Amino acid sequence: MSAMPRVIVMGGSVGGLTTALVLRDTGCDVRVFERSSSALQARGAGIAALDATLRYLVERGGYQPADVCSATGWIRFLNRDGSLRHEQRHRYRFSSWNTIYRSLLRLFGAGRYLLGHEVVDFGQTGDTVCVTLADGSRASADLLVCADGVSSIGRGKLIPEVAPSYAGYVAWRGTVPERSLSPATRKAYEDAIIYQVLTDSHILVYPIPGLDGSLAAGDRLINMVWYVNVAAGDDLDRLMTGRDGIRRAVSLPPGAATDEAVTSMRRQAEAVFAPPVAEVVTSVAEPFVQAVYDIEVPRMAHGRVCLVGDAAFAVRPHAAAGTAKAADDGWALGEELQAAGGNVPAALAAWERRQLLVGQQLLDRTREIGDSSQFNGTFRPGDPRLIFGLHEPGH
Ligand SMILES: Cc1cc2nc3c(=O)[nH]c(=O)nc-3n(C[C@H](O)[C@H](O)[C@H](O)COP(=O)(O)OP(=O)(O)OC[C@H]3O[C@@H](n4cnc5c(N)ncnc54)[C@H](O)[C@@H]3O)c2cc1C
Repeated sequence: MSAMPRVIVMGGSVGGLTTALVLRDTGCDVRVFERSSSALQARGAGIAALDATLRYLVERGGYQPADVCSATGWIRFLNRDGSLRHEQRHRYRFSSWNTIYRSLLRLFGAGRYLLGHEVVDFGQTGDTVCVTLADGSRASADLLVCADGVSSIGRGKLIPEVAPSYAGYVAWRGTVPERSLSPATRKAYEDAIIYQVLTDSHILVYPIPGLDGSLAAGDRLINMVWYVNVAAGDDLDRLMTGRDGIRRAVSLPPGAATDEAVTSMRRQAEAVFAPPVAEVVTSVAEPFVQAVYDIEVPRMAHGRVCLVGDAAFAVRPHAAAGTAKAADDGWALGEELQAAGGNVPAALAAWERRQLLVGQQLLDRTREIGDSSQFNGTFRPGDPRLIFGLHEPGH
């Protein structure tokens, strides 16, 4: 019998899938329980892809970064009239949540990736974790990895005293087919991520793969993320209440924002942005909204259950390191399980010491950047702290 544990991973997004793949490689018997009943679909979200996000695909999956990422060689900041405020050479890779997810899932295979498996409860008895699913069925394992995202029930059960803290602003996000943009605007994004800094706000816009993963010029999408302050209370409630009347806590999916909110956002974009930025923002057919939260946990493991990715620390997006942190949690868990010869409590104790530090430092960094943009007026083009990175800017 294998010394390596039987593992259930709750949540099959980037963090859950990377963890599942790494643990399977160490000899664990791994199943992924994903709540969604169909393969997770285009979330319409572009992501800056750091090395840790791509690590499994590249080191073990036979991928080159260029198979799944677009790349840019410049960071440019524009003024309102479109003139250049600042530029610097810096190479970034960009992908989409969709492209990374699909590629990881292809490597894991569908056999043990179980859709429609929503975990509603779990408990630990002796050396076993027993999980209850929404249909009432049960499953057991030696280790439960909660990779169930920002609204994690794993966190809620293990550390109920931790509550998400609203950062005071939201991100308007969305994509536009590159082909649909004017030649001048397309040229602006050919080899650059474009920023524009406003009073108490900033936007970033960059090219990502097309929905089918295509990286050919013209087939790509141009992705925007615009950080806008929205006061907690009535203003936030109004924005996060969709056309269906439902108030979402974290994200309002594409197509759900009210016409009033979208029209007001587009009007403001026309008034404040440089032409290549305004054209993208006003052309997004179905912009979506994500409220920005800080989540800080004092522990990431308890007995035979652990929290990875956004289920543990959820950090503001300014280091573009959310998926990288989730993947790094998974790699570190694999290393510690191997070092402990499959002894789950010993591995989790060592793992928690390492990953608490990674999460806390990233949270502190992203909080500082976010506050400098949205509240303190100290967000400066060219500031080296703005370079994306998991452990520090650039790394
Ligand atoms: C505005 C914005 C911009 C961002 N930009 C970037 C970027 O450029 N680069 C980057 O790396 N990151 C970025 N992020 C962060 C990134 O999206 C997250 O950090 C990342 O998706 C976290 O991955 P995860 O696997 O931990 O959780 P998630 O991706 O949230 O996945 C959780 C999964 O768990 C499933 N699930 C939930 N509950 C249950 C349950 N009870 N049972 C079973 N399954 C369940 C869900 O269906 C989902 O599939 C950004 C985030 C925001 C808000």
